[in-house]
Amino acid sequence: DQVIRKQMRDAHRVVADLYHEVLMKTEAGEVGLTYLQARGLEESTIGQYKIGYAPDHRRFTVESLERRGFDLEVMVEAGLISKSRAGEYFDRFEGRVVFPIADRDGTIVGFSGRAIDERQPKYVNTADTPLFNKSELLFGFSQARATMRKQKRVVLVEGNVDVLQVAQAGTKEVVASLGTAFSTQHARALARMVEEVIICYDGDTAGQEATMKVVRLLEGYPLDVQVLMLPEKTDPDDYIRTNGAEQWQRLVESERLSVLDFMNRTLRRGKNMSREGERIRFIESMLVEISKTDNSIRRDLYVKKLADEFEIPVETLLSRMPSTGPKEV
Ligand code: ATP
Ligand code: MN
Ligand code: MN
Ligand code: MN
Repeated sequence: DQVIRKQMRDAHRVVADLYHEVLMKTEAGEVGLTYLQARGLEESTIGQYKIGYAPDHRRFTVESLERRGFDLEVMVEAGLISKSRAGEYFDRFEGRVVFPIADRDGTIVGFSGRAIDERQPKYVNTADTPLFNKSELLFGFSQARATMRKQKRVVLVEGNVDVLQVAQAGTKEVVASLGTAFSTQHARALARMVEEVIICYDGDTAGQEATMKVVRLLEGYPLDVQVLMLPEKTDPDDYIRTNGAEQWQRLVESERLSVLDFMNRTLRRGKNMSREGERIRFIESMLVEISKTDNSIRRDLYVKKLADEFEIPVETLLSRMPSTGPKEV
């Protein structure tokens, strides 16, 4: 078992080096490099994250691994290649730009591959394997680690390209959960390293809902959780490419919302607060959200702030607060 795991790790290093070399030094990789450059990514960023390109060839990886003496059955189990029903081995990430995913020590254990043409799906990620556990890994963690420790904070984004763009804009302490599946293990790992978590998910409904889920997983820890809301239909990558690194820095340093202000901003949307009925419904929906807060100190702080905002006695709000568990409005 240890031997097999070692073979899997070795193979990931070999394949990552290979894909990176294809991207940087070969004609086959030019489409990939052109794609990344068109997305505003610099060579130094590409190097730091060891981005690569898997040639658009059905057996490039299979043959490279076979030539180096790797056991192809083990390689299938490691998620590096696939096997058809007919027993034929073939590549998994062919024709894609590949982002290596490393564990906290920087050992590569999986890949995320992005299509650069119209092929579907847009992303192919390593499925769970003996080395790769999606709920424990964060893209960019090993690169962000030193800065996270020093600054005692982390910026959490949705996508790999967001990580690259945010890091390139000077915020090195940035990681992404793979997909939107932020887990209790992620929360624990971050809470051990930092005092401040800045959530900067995509500016769409999915991003806002995912933000609230992350908030729920983090609020049990004594952390300062903040939310950076981006304009409609914008993700950090879009934002930085449109507005530049300086504007991004200004945003990160001065536009962060507390969790309460984030709830306030989201629940208020589309409501006409000068109408008493809508104002009451808004306050009640805030109380529902606040009641779900898994930390009684935080909960009391929020009620107090809401009371101040609307000049309502705290006791009145408390008497209207749902007392048990999550409830829907
Ligand atoms: P891009 O900017 O390259 O189009 P994105 O990061 O903005 O990608 P989103 O659609 O916002 O893409 O998705 C966020 C993240 O979710 C992606 O970075 C990827 O890790 C994951 N993801 C998106 N689509 C898929 C998919 N079809 N299969 C698996 N994972 C996906
Ligand atoms: Mn998204
Ligand atoms: Mn996105
Ligand atoms: Mn994007």
